[in-house]
Amino acid sequence: MLSSGSAYITKYLLVKEIRRLKSKILECFYPTRCVGCERLGYLLCNECQNELVFIDQSTSCTACGAPFGRNVCTECSTVYDKAIFPFAATSCALEFNELSRRLVLTYKNGGEKRLAVLLAQLLAQVIPRSWYRWADLITWIPADPIAYKRRGFDHMAYVADALSKRIGLSAKPLLYKRSIKDQRSLNRSDRQLNMREVFLVNKPKTGSSLNSKDIYFDEIRAKNIILIDDVFTTGATLSAATNVLLNAKANEVRVATICRVW
Ligand SMILES: [Zn+2]
Ligand SMILES: [Zn+2]
Repeated sequence: MLSSGSAYITKYLLVKEIRRLKSKILECFYPTRCVGCERLGYLLCNECQNELVFIDQSTSCTACGAPFGRNVCTECSTVYDKAIFPFAATSCALEFNELSRRLVLTYKNGGEKRLAVLLAQLLAQVIPRSWYRWADLITWIPADPIAYKRRGFDHMAYVADALSKRIGLSAKPLLYKRSIKDQRSLNRSDRQLNMREVFLVNKPKTGSSLNSKDIYFDEIRAKNIILIDDVFTTGATLSAATNVLLNAKANEVRVATICRVW
């Protein structure tokens, strides 16, 4: 018993040492540079952190997260009888500008996974405290298979995991995203059309002993869910994902994103 215990500790220390050496070697060839100003040794230096433009949560639109409106912006208040978005509230951390764009792109396309913790911290800062008590769990907009293959990781899953640890709510992969046409060149109505049936309730990987049909439906039913994503542009992606959760009988969905474009 003692020998297997000490063998385990030796293995643990060895793995730790290999990791440390690996990151040292990587650091020699690909040194850490600040996302904003390329200063050596920082993921995001203090000066650049101070340059981040936070959306003032006390004056932003609670429906769509736009940084104006004081409760509800003019766009969200034009339709009185019906909410524009299926999610009940939105909270976005940063104005979308050159720095926040670089932050998100360095993370998801540049593969700088260490930024996940910082991005989760930004979300935790702006998610209202009342949501912590209200929510049952966190989920995220998943990468579709093509994006996953290109990037090698499901970027918002890492942020959700870090956020989960920070605010003490569990994060679960409730959604699956099919591959679709690039959204960027499309307007809002074309995006909504493109998004139709793009999200599905997720299924566990094959080989699971659990009933693959029901597991995530059970996780969604009657739950209050915080749905996170990197950028809120028109809200079409978040709306499509929310509708899938609501159709699977979620009680309510609220949205939080790192950046807001308007
Ligand atoms: Zn910097
Ligand atoms: Zn609004």
